[in-house]
This record gives sequence, structure tokens and C-alpha cells, in this order.
Amino acid sequence: MLANPYLQGVFDAVIKRNPAEPEFHQAVKEVLESLEPVVQKHPEYVSAGIIDRIVEPERFISFRVSWVDDAGKVQVNRGFRVQFNSAIGPYKGGLRFHPSVYSGIIKFLGFEQIFKNSLTDLPIGGGKGGSDFDPKGKSDNEIMKFCQSFMTELSKHIGADTDVPAGDIGVGGREIGFMYGQYKRLRNEFTGVLTGKGLTYGGSLARTEATGYGLCYYTDEMLKDNGKSFKGATVVISGSGNVAIYAAQKATELGGKVVALSDSSGYIHDPQGINLATVQQIKEVERKRISEYVNYHPNATYTEGCSGIWSIKCDIALPSATQNEIDAKSAQMLVDNGCFAVAEGANMPSTPEAVEIFHKNGVLFGPAKAANAGGVATSALEMSQNSMRYSWTFEEVDAKLKNIMINIYRESSEAAQAYGLKGNLVAGANIAGFMKVAQAMYSQGVAY
Ligand code: NDP
Repeated sequence: MLANPYLQGVFDAVIKRNPAEPEFHQAVKEVLESLEPVVQKHPEYVSAGIIDRIVEPERFISFRVSWVDDAGKVQVNRGFRVQFNSAIGPYKGGLRFHPSVYSGIIKFLGFEQIFKNSLTDLPIGGGKGGSDFDPKGKSDNEIMKFCQSFMTELSKHIGADTDVPAGDIGVGGREIGFMYGQYKRLRNEFTGVLTGKGLTYGGSLARTEATGYGLCYYTDEMLKDNGKSFKGATVVISGSGNVAIYAAQKATELGGKVVALSDSSGYIHDPQGINLATVQQIKEVERKRISEYVNYHPNATYTEGCSGIWSIKCDIALPSATQNEIDAKSAQMLVDNGCFAVAEGANMPSTPEAVEIFHKNGVLFGPAKAANAGGVATSALEMSQNSMRYSWTFEEVDAKLKNIMINIYRESSEAAQAYGLKGNLVAGANIAGFMKVAQAMYSQGVAY
């Protein structure tokens, strides 16, 4: 139960309107808990119904995606786009292609995105989308056909000044390219409608690296603020996709030793430090399983199953695979093994019980909507470059990204302190992200 009856009422209404969507409920509850001191200080937001409105998407689109596989068989998937909040800018957020995708996942991700995008201090609203399509095991031709069919419908709802999607799980450079090509064909316009584009057609340097690098810049700032650092630290990172690979690269550059990575089948442990060139060859070039790693590095071990990765002794953990991958048991193992910092590369990878354990045990904890905001921040920088018809160098983009991540840490930390919750970066990120959107919604009136 939430202590504030008004917030509990908002939460009850969310559950009633969105039955059987536990991930969405979880994301909303966490934000509402953080807003308890805010509603006391700002009764005007209550009377303007800001919180009642912020939990309801401005628009939710669900559509059929039919396509023909290599065997000539017709396949049907479901596509989604949630346009959650446009108070501070065009809707912005990635597309996820994974069999687990349904309305509840899309809404949780879209809701989180509102506050994350606000934290970047860039003019982007919150959105998210995707499909229950499973890219695993599909040929390039099948991926292309699916992406084209998906975009044929999605193109009716997006635009460079309306809604700008990007990648997420299962959507990388290849998929963005196919979708961009289809959008261009349908509209006959070359515009910055998707981000994460290839460098030859409007992509930004450093976008590929941005979420992982940004995660480490944020973590580095959090560590420094508490008298610690990556130097000499043992780091465990889950996942071996876009976020995990570039988090591993930056963590290593900052002096950490990354000893474990995973995929949805299992994890590898290399006590000497993971060889990233091998991982990139396996995952980015050959698109194979992480288990292949031990064929190149026989001193490393591979273990089936995902959650065991949290039993590896480490100083810093960067969960970068998927939602709810660290439960109470895994969190307790991390604490018992002396882990002093956890920062979330994935969206909502820690369950509420896990977060409670981190907080109770004094583990520095950087929540996803702050720690992984570097991806969307750099996407917004890609939008700026597209509007200017200009490109910045890698170093320019990287420097902007670093500044943004440092500011996100500081703003969240200051907001937590201002509301009497010093050190609680979950509340700090929720409050700092909320305030800007709330002010914009308040100024724009009820029927905006
Ligand atoms: P990728 O598809 O590139 O990689 C995902 C990784 O996580 C893969 O190793 C995958 O393993 C693993 N994984 C996916 N689903 C599961 C699951 N159910 N159980 C265990 N492992 C799983 O995605 P990204 O790296 O882009 O995204 C990872 C996380 O980061 C997501 O939560 C995403 O929302 C978040 N994020 C991504 C951003 C970006 O810019 N890409 C920005 C901000 C957040 P397998 O290959 O076996 O499926």
C-alpha cells in the first residue's frame, strides 16, 4: 500500500484499467512511491490531475504484422507503439522484438521512458514499441520482410517531429536499416525518423556505444561521489548485446576487470578478464551463442542458466540483459559477496525486493532510468545532427554524452537530498524526471 491515499487511488485505477500487466504496475508503483514527498510540496499538481494523466498513455497502437517466411508460409505477429507523453518533446523510445513482448511490457518501457528522457534535459517525450516477433534463427531475408511489414503500418503513426523510434532488445543496426529503407520508400522523404541509423545514412557516431558507455560514465560519477572507483574493481555484466558489450569496453577502459557476461541461455566466467574482441566476433559478426567463448578461451567456464551469474564474486554489477533478472536471492548473493555498487544497464532488471536489499545494505544503486539514459540521449543528439544536416565527430558526441550522464547523476542526487531522501538515487531520478514533465503539463493545460 502507498502511504498517500491519493497516490494509492491513482495506482488502483492503473491496475483496473490495465489488468494482467504486472510489469507496468511495477514500474508505476515505484514512481508513485517516490512521488509521496512531491505531492505534499506541490498540491497544485494534484488538483491539475497531473499524476492521474501521466500514468495514462496519450495513445496506444496495436496492429497486425503479416509477412511470408522463407518456406512461403504466412506468419502473423503483433506490433505495438505506445505514445505515452509528449509534454516536453516528440515521443522517443526504442522498438523491442522479442517473443515476450505484449502490451504490459510496452507500457512499462514507455512509462519509464518519460522520466528517463526528461532526465537527459533534451526535448524528447516518452514512447516505446515493438513486436512479439522472435528474430532468433531467422534469415536476413525474413528479418527484412518482417521489418518492412512492421514499418508499413508504423509509418502512419511516426515522423521526425512526432515520434522517433530507435532500437532495443532484438533491434540493432540491421533492423533499423531495413525499417528506415521502408519508411523512405513509403514517404519519399529522407528524414531523421529513426535513430541508431547506419553512419552512411544519417546515423550518429557513438550511438552504438552510447548506452554502455553512458552507464559507465554514470557509475563512475556515483563511485567517485562515494570515494570509490572502477580502478582494480571486479565487474560482472549480464547480457552480451549492445548495452553489455559497450559497458564492458568502457568499464575495462576505466580500470575495471570484467569477468562475466551472459545471454538468455547461460553465462561465461573468465577470471582473467573477458576478451571483448572474441565476444564481439561471436555476438556481433557471427550472431552465435555466448557459450562459443570457451572454445577460444579454454580457461573460461560456461554455465547453463542466467541467474547463476550473480553468484560470481564482484565489486560492481551492471545488469544489462532484461527486466527482473535480479531477484531478492540474487541481490542477497551479490551483497554477501561484497558487491558495493549496482547500476542498471537494462530496463528494470532488479525486482523491488532486490532494490530494497541493495538499499538496506548500503550498496550504491543507480536505477535504469538514470543509468542507461545515455542511449536515448545520444539518439536525441542524432536527431539534432539530422535537423542540422551535419555530423559531429565521435569525440564531440562522446563528450556531450559524458556531460549528460554526469548531470543526470548530480540532478538525481540533488533531488533526493532536496526531498529528504539523501543517497536514494531511485527516488532522486523519479522526482527529477517527473518535475520537468509535470511543470510542462501544468503549463499546457488539461486538454493539451
Ligand atoms: P540486445 O538484443 O542487443 O541484447 C540483449 C541481451 O540480453 C542478449 O545477450 C540477450 O540474450 C539477453 N536477454 C534478452 N532477453 C533475455 C531474457 N529474457 N533472459 C535473459 N537474457 C536475455 O539488447 P540491448 O543490449 O539493446 O538491450 C538490453 C537491455 O538494455 C534491455 O533491457 C533494453 O531495454 C535496455 N536498454 C537498451 C538501450 C539501447 O540503446 N540498446 C537503451 C536503454 C536501455 P539472447 O541473445 O540469448 O536473447
